[in-house]
Amino acid sequence: MDQARDWLRNAESIVALTGAGISAESGIPTFRGDGGLWRNFRAEDLATPEAFSRDPALVWEWYNWRRELIAKAKPNPGHRVLVDLERAKRDFTLVTQNVDGLHEAAGNYRILKLHGDIWRLRCTSCNAEWPDRRVPLPKLPPKCQCGGMARPGVVWFGEALPPGILEEAAHAVENSQVLLVVGTSAVVYPAANLIPYAKRAGAKVIEVNPTETPMSEVADISLRGPAGEILPRL
Ligand code: NAD
Repeated sequence: MDQARDWLRNAESIVALTGAGISAESGIPTFRGDGGLWRNFRAEDLATPEAFSRDPALVWEWYNWRRELIAKAKPNPGHRVLVDLERAKRDFTLVTQNVDGLHEAAGNYRILKLHGDIWRLRCTSCNAEWPDRRVPLPKLPPKCQCGGMARPGVVWFGEALPPGILEEAAHAVENSQVLLVVGTSAVVYPAANLIPYAKRAGAKVIEVNPTETPMSEVADISLRGPAGEILPRL
């Protein structure tokens, strides 16, 4: 813990990579681990383009339910530490796999959202994108002005990330002295690649997670415990 604190204190350039675990203490279920089930469906089976083309109404019901959960959630102390870091450091980039918007709600500004945003919708015919925070959505599946069916503005398993975003994240990581990895199972690619990439580029890697991950062995330090408790101690 002391070593991690020193690295963070002395670094001018830091990247934080977050995953669903940082929002767990705000009451938002993670995909992997306890409480990830909805009506006996696994998230991995619903968050795919195939699931959506098979049954858009089912996938939308699940997203509507997740939007309701997320709408009630508030940022927790873990989110707030990342706001303090952004304010304190010359160079801080937050790279998140989360789609819940809690990092903005907490007050971070420099955020790269690798997997999109659950509060945005995208037309499956004309590709238009727009924000929609209504909870619940009045009609499922929602429609675009052009009449096309809308989909959630998130990146599903098997889909490409928004153009250019991975390059931006990699660039931030290359220039960082510390990569702080919080609440990710580190099994979703290409996001997880940022961890060994940081290591090769010479950054110290600090992982915060209650359980071991495949990237624990890449990390210089693994701090075991919930983000809302560990991050404030750093
Ligand atoms: P994941 O569900 O695969 O893994 C969650 C990780 O968080 C696990 O390693 C778990 O041990 C850890 N964890 C659980 N509670 C924690 C806590 N209190 N503090 C710190 N860590 C904790 O999540 P992932 O790695 O982000 O990848 C899954 C995909 O799921 C991502 O692409 C993401 O877009 C999506 N997702 C997002 C949200 C969200 O926006 N809140 C929620 C669920 C899933």
